[in-house]
Amino acid sequence: MLIHKRNSQNFNDRPKSQEVDTIVIHSMFAQFVEPELQFDPDICIATLDQESVSAHYVISREGEIYQLVDEELRAWHAGVSQMPDLRENVNDFSLGIELIGSPESGFTDLQYEALIRLTINVCSRHKIKHFVGHDQIAPGRKTDPGANFDWNRYLSALSPA
Ligand SMILES: [Zn+2]
Repeated sequence: MLIHKRNSQNFNDRPKSQEVDTIVIHSMFAQFVEPELQFDPDICIATLDQESVSAHYVISREGEIYQLVDEELRAWHAGVSQMPDLRENVNDFSLGIELIGSPESGFTDLQYEALIRLTINVCSRHKIKHFVGHDQIAPGRKTDPGANFDWNRYLSALSPA
């Protein structure tokens, strides 16, 4: 699988012997640039850098996958957060995947295809038990990936028919 590497400074170590069991889906775009640049992956990644946050992966509108932080390390994507099972500090035990898009744009077929390929790849390395949106673990504070993300399309592609 082709993955473009980008280096983020915004990470630290996971708690000792912490297993990864959760994928957090996010969405973002660059808000403060010309409209034609808002979905540019390098500008979106620079935006994360400027906001002192990160994600393990960013997926462009064309389905290109960028890796910012190694899976073993704790990327800063979830912030103050709580799982349905009440665990907090979701960054400790999760991988964060950013889909580039706005609340209006939805997500492209190429993005779903890349996300599904990436998730299957991740699941070969980690026992992932939970798939959540940022809006589910930080309600009232975060709205991404929002109602335009098709959870059924994503999750049904992961489970064997
Ligand atoms: Zn988010």
